[in-house]
Amino acid sequence: MELSDLIQEMLKQCKTLDLLYVEDDQKIAESTKEMLSPFFQSITLAHDGLDGLKAYKNGQFDIVLTDIMMPKLDGCSLSRKIREMNPKQAIIVISAFEEMEYFREFIEIGISKFIPKPPEFKHLLNSFISTAININNDKKIILLTKALKKDLDENKELLKRIIDTVPIRIFWKDRQSRYLGCNRLFAQDAGLESEADFIGKTDYDFSWKSEAPDYIKDDHGVMTSGIKKLHIEEKQTKEDGSQMWLSTSKVPLMDSNGNIVGILGAYSDITAQKEAMNAIQAARDELGYQAQHDPLTDLPNRVLYMDRLYHAMKKAERSQKKLAVMFIDLDRFKQINDSLGHETGDIIVQLLAKRLSAILRSEDTVARFGGDEFTVLLEDITDISAVAEIASKMVKAMDEPFDIDDHHLHLTLSAGVSIYPDDGDTAEILIRNADTAMYRAKDEGRNAYTFYSKEMTDKTLYSMMIAKNIRTSLELKEFEVYYQPQIDAVENKVLGLEALIRWKTANGFISPAVFIPIAEEAGLIHKIGEFVFSQATSQIAKWYEQGYNPGRVAINLSAIELQKENFVESIIQRLSDAKCKSDWIELEITEGYTMKHADVAIKMLQRLKDVGIHLSIDDFGTGYSSLSYLQKLPIHKLKIDQSFVRDIPGNPNSEAIVQSIIFLAKSMQFDIIAEGVETQEQQNYLVSKGCSAIQGYYNAKPMPASQIEVFLQKYDKTKNLLNSTES
Ligand code: C2E
Ligand code: CA
Ligand code: CA
Repeated sequence: MELSDLIQEMLKQCKTLDLLYVEDDQKIAESTKEMLSPFFQSITLAHDGLDGLKAYKNGQFDIVLTDIMMPKLDGCSLSRKIREMNPKQAIIVISAFEEMEYFREFIEIGISKFIPKPPEFKHLLNSFISTAININNDKKIILLTKALKKDLDENKELLKRIIDTVPIRIFWKDRQSRYLGCNRLFAQDAGLESEADFIGKTDYDFSWKSEAPDYIKDDHGVMTSGIKKLHIEEKQTKEDGSQMWLSTSKVPLMDSNGNIVGILGAYSDITAQKEAMNAIQAARDELGYQAQHDPLTDLPNRVLYMDRLYHAMKKAERSQKKLAVMFIDLDRFKQINDSLGHETGDIIVQLLAKRLSAILRSEDTVARFGGDEFTVLLEDITDISAVAEIASKMVKAMDEPFDIDDHHLHLTLSAGVSIYPDDGDTAEILIRNADTAMYRAKDEGRNAYTFYSKEMTDKTLYSMMIAKNIRTSLELKEFEVYYQPQIDAVENKVLGLEALIRWKTANGFISPAVFIPIAEEAGLIHKIGEFVFSQATSQIAKWYEQGYNPGRVAINLSAIELQKENFVESIIQRLSDAKCKSDWIELEITEGYTMKHADVAIKMLQRLKDVGIHLSIDDFGTGYSSLSYLQKLPIHKLKIDQSFVRDIPGNPNSEAIVQSIIFLAKSMQFDIIAEGVETQEQQNYLVSKGCSAIQGYYNAKPMPASQIEVFLQKYDKTKNLLNSTES
């Protein structure tokens, strides 16, 4: 290296260094200091060993440059003392050749830098540069280490701040599930002041000791398997005894060698979410409840019933047992609703729900399908008679009147039962069949229960087929009106005729007793009624025109036809269309209808009477007419039902009824006629009791119009013949 390079290097390496220079030779000291001073940050001069030691203690020096032979304290002892204070202190010794004996001692202390005395510039440069490089390197390392340590401390601090501020609870435990540490939030949960209070404790030491076994079991699971457990929902008892919900995750805690030394856990407080979820669930349950229950009675509704039925069927199938579906309907509930109002109707439905529920076992289901319709599900049936017993209890439960306000309402119900699997293997079929059976119970007089039978379905299917055929037959005009003469058995003359519809199909005649009720159900009765009315009225008009005297012709009206709007007007209109006088016809209505809709019926019948149409009550004696009610009816005639005629003379009951009806009619100035008279005895009996108007096979069967013409002619002739023989 060139000298200039050495000077450059010296300037670079030493400019930040402080030098302590100990030299007793004033001259040397001055000249050397002068030589060195441009290179150092500072140079402190001491004049002997003791002075040097004092200066060293008071200052900070990177390098100590010392002479050996000095008064008070020599360079060697000074170096020893300095090294005792700072073993790393850089020391350079200036020595004369004769001081060689000291060298061993210097080596002992670890000093190996020597400059010959008097110091030459070049030697100084070499020694100082190498020493300064070392010092600067050390300084750099120290600085770096310091910086690193500072970073590390800052990072640690940051990490701790992070751990303390994350909104989750963090903890770590050793292999024995003892806490090694936790963050502040967790400490707060535990009611502890400081995180340090956790160390060494276990879960048994905290408010959540009751949950400790579960927690510790989890810890061990994670530690032994090495598999993390994430987001487990668990409860934790708080200091105040309340419970919080946690979502906890646990992962194995590893040392740098990958050994599992414990567990690291984190959890968040999900109590609020959990409560919100619970609230939602509760609301949903409530909604579900509403969707499955009837609000009026609080009973299961159709949805829930169907669900239960479905499951019950599955169960029954597995256990090879039966179950029963019961369909229940109040009799004449509509009337109550109409007359007493819906509020009363609602109360009745509620009371009925209670009565029905009281009869059932807790495992049975009673549901409300709507209106006054209830369904019952009876499971685990081994004996059908048990079902019958429950059904009969339900019918009997109605014996007690329903007390509402001031009313004592006597109600009855009808029930139908179907059995799984005997009567159907789907819920829909079972319910439909129970419904069919219930209708049968109603048909048979209500206040009863009926078990479903296959014939009922056959009947339904048959009805559907008939209804369909009625439609096509109406289009094809396959219906015809027959007429049955009504005879005065005393006067021996034709009083009139009854128009009766006939339906001739490919399979023969189908009785109106069969298809009229079906037509009523299917809404086809209006068409049939119109057909019969127009056929009959134009036929009557034709007969009169042709000189026949068919008397007054009775036309049957279904109760449903009477409910049609503008019924009276349409009758008048059609009479005039057919050029048929109102006096030539008579309308037959049944007791049932006039009873049901008393006020409306009376008004309407009055209007018919006002236009000159005669009215008769058909099938009289089978209905429920009360005497007071009968008095209000604007009618002309009663027809004794054929069921009473059938058993006379001979049956005292029938005789009594027939006699009373005749008496009633006479006393109220109604005409009277008996129908279904098949024998001379019957006719004689009726005549003897005062009923001379007779209709029945004995005199004549219903026949087509053309045959009626023959009959009328013949009858007149016989009459004439009789008359002539008599005269
Ligand atoms: P109904 O009004 O009581 O008619 C009398 C029924 O008794 C008729 O049956 C008639 O054929 C039958 N009959 C007459 N004399 C005798 C007899 O001596 N012995 C027996 N056993 N029966 C006799 P039909 O024609 O089968 O009608 C049955 C029911 O169908 C009628 O009973 C009536 O309720 C209804 N019906 C018939 N035609 C019509 C109609 O045009 N319109 C409406 N709405 N109903 C009708
Ligand atoms: Ca009739
Ligand atoms: Ca009749």
